[in-house]
Amino acid sequence: MPELTVGTATAAPGTRARGVIEVTTLPGGRPLDIPVMVLNGAVNGPCVWVDGVIHGDEPEGTLACHMLDAELDPANMRGSVVLVPVLNVPAYEAAQRGNPLDTFSYDMNRIYPGREGGYLTERVAYTHSRWLRDVATFELSIHSGGAHSYLSETIFTTTQPESIELAKAMGKDWSLILKNIRPSGSPGAVMHEAGKHALTVELGGRPATSARDFQRCARTLADGVLNVLRHYKVIDGQPTYAGKWYTGFQHALLAPVSGLFLAETTLEFQKPMKKGDSLARIVGVYGDSLAELRTPADGMIFGLRALPNVLTGDWCCFYAEIEGEL
Ligand SMILES: [Zn+2]
Repeated sequence: MPELTVGTATAAPGTRARGVIEVTTLPGGRPLDIPVMVLNGAVNGPCVWVDGVIHGDEPEGTLACHMLDAELDPANMRGSVVLVPVLNVPAYEAAQRGNPLDTFSYDMNRIYPGREGGYLTERVAYTHSRWLRDVATFELSIHSGGAHSYLSETIFTTTQPESIELAKAMGKDWSLILKNIRPSGSPGAVMHEAGKHALTVELGGRPATSARDFQRCARTLADGVLNVLRHYKVIDGQPTYAGKWYTGFQHALLAPVSGLFLAETTLEFQKPMKKGDSLARIVGVYGDSLAELRTPADGMIFGLRALPNVLTGDWCCFYAEIEGEL
């Protein structure tokens, strides 16, 4: 196993290193860069690259990276792990989805592979893309419902067999694998373009940010990554599997009107529903019902808006139209 370099971090075989991927400088003179932790195994094997916080209001990935760094011993690894605890630093500092300093390319998960001479966030994405494409065998991008929603354990990936294998390798807690047939704009698109495989992994968000819930979400995410590492034999141990996997497409249902969003109190995540079942209603300022949201197909709800105040066009329900099992 040769030494492994990502940005300013170089780890000899069987060791770890911390550093940054340098991007540019901010007006106040501070550098804008991407923190990175490199864990280089003693023996050859795949490189599993984990990205947290492409969206600044989704810090579950940060804590999951910290857990993984604390629990992995590179001296006993066959292959390597690259952890990016915070990909979009200014967005993380502002606890917002995008970088408030960049209104031209605000949503970083829509602009990959970025542009070398582009807007600020496009340059961050471009620099990240180069390293990712050259170093990673697999990429796992960790997301959550952020400031607006809660999302239950859900994976998005392509329909290629290697991608499905990677998704199943997340282990016992991950049985919903939705299709993103031709990923575009995300780090996964860069991997796809390079003939490699990636997952977008969702868990957590606003109603699960109490100390206990937040750490439960990060634990489940970190456990999924550890299971991936066991599946590909980067670390020792017996991997687990969900055993039954549902697949289909996401419907992100948007608010037809502004008002107060009231989900059905009986809703349960990832429980089968029929087309036309009631999901939620939106009431106006005097309490009158203004709109009803219903399921667009047979399937299951996997995420829900958590901030009841809603604007026309806002995300409300994340619904999986289920096509079958994998
Ligand atoms: Zn996200």
